[in-house]
Amino acid sequence: MDTQAEAKILAAVDDQFAAQVQLTQDLVRFPSLRGQEHTIQDFVYEVLRSRGAVMDRWRIAEHDIKHHPGFSPIDVSYENAWNVVGSFRPRSESGRSLILNAHVDVVPTGPADMWTAPPFEPIIRDGWLFGRGSADMKAGLAANIFALDAIRAAGFAAQATVHIQSVVEEESTGNGTLAASVRGYRADAVICPEPEEEKLVRANAGVVWFSVRLTGRPAHTREMAEGFNAIDAAYGVIAALRELETRWNAERSRHRYFEDLEHPINLNIGRIEGGDWNSMVPAWCTVHCRLAMYPGTSAQQVRQAVEACVKAHAAATPALANNPPVVRWTGFFCEGYVLAEGTDAERVLADAHARVFAAPLESFTTPAYLDARVTVLYDKIPTLVYGPRSRNIHGIDEAVDLASVKRISKTIALFVARWCGIAPTSAA
Ligand code: ZN
Repeated sequence: MDTQAEAKILAAVDDQFAAQVQLTQDLVRFPSLRGQEHTIQDFVYEVLRSRGAVMDRWRIAEHDIKHHPGFSPIDVSYENAWNVVGSFRPRSESGRSLILNAHVDVVPTGPADMWTAPPFEPIIRDGWLFGRGSADMKAGLAANIFALDAIRAAGFAAQATVHIQSVVEEESTGNGTLAASVRGYRADAVICPEPEEEKLVRANAGVVWFSVRLTGRPAHTREMAEGFNAIDAAYGVIAALRELETRWNAERSRHRYFEDLEHPINLNIGRIEGGDWNSMVPAWCTVHCRLAMYPGTSAQQVRQAVEACVKAHAAATPALANNPPVVRWTGFFCEGYVLAEGTDAERVLADAHARVFAAPLESFTTPAYLDARVTVLYDKIPTLVYGPRSRNIHGIDEAVDLASVKRISKTIALFVARWCGIAPTSAA
């Protein structure tokens, strides 16, 4: 690779970085919570179209994807669930193709009054850009777009097709990237700049969502003993599920890349609702859960284990024996993956990273869900999840380190140049 060309590309990332930050802020201003992503997707569509991409925009339809083994069941409308892909194609294809993937959906803000500034007002303090979705992962989407901009601004064109994917549903099902796969998008490598602390994800956990619904016997609190309290009973179910969690964590030494994590399998009781009145014994309680699994364990196996656990607990609890809780599965039903070592794509990323950071690329295991499971498990594409430093993702005062975003953007730009190949625009 021509070092002069690379120097030009790196300088172009620097030159355009103010505009890149501005685009990132524009993206953060959209409150792209689940079911409300259509307006940001319209915006992204224009951003990519104005750069000359061949555009594709479609609404995810359950019937298109529900037969895929990586499908997650849903109980929401996909009326506003649009995916956008902008494809940049060379005049003649001579290099290796690439997908640059990012999601625009964000998790809820939590209590807005806990935030230092309103969560969808992207402010910059001490080199950090704050806002819900700033790190996870609107900075990554902007980095993908500006990596290609830098190549263009430096006077070059990639010599293979690059698809920039802007997907939804990453925080709930993974059905957005899945729908892009079902639609036929393939490439020789995928990069996804999730906030991964400037490291490459070697392995990640699978994730399922489920809810447990308990039915009580309502009564006046005067005759409380004659009722059966569904909320009280939920504690027992949660305790039983925690035992399952403990058992699976104890097995971590048997799972390559997870041995050194202290607690790789997290059960999160994310939401609970129940009861109707302070002075009524509650007739119902629903507990909404998120549970992880090791790569190689199927979501179906997890489902069986959870249902068996709840069933055994109910059988051993007199008031639940004839009134067993009902377990429902909507949301993530996704398996984890391990990124094979020693691929060409990883080598090219490691070299590009070393050029920018003057330090070797490290890889690590994350116990969180990643859309990369779609392209790794089903499409067999080397998928490099690699992105900037962050703070408080899914928490309060989420922020992304802008200097880190710039470094990551440089690595991605160099990766594109080396992976796809480049040629001067004038001679193209
Ligand atoms: Zn994310």
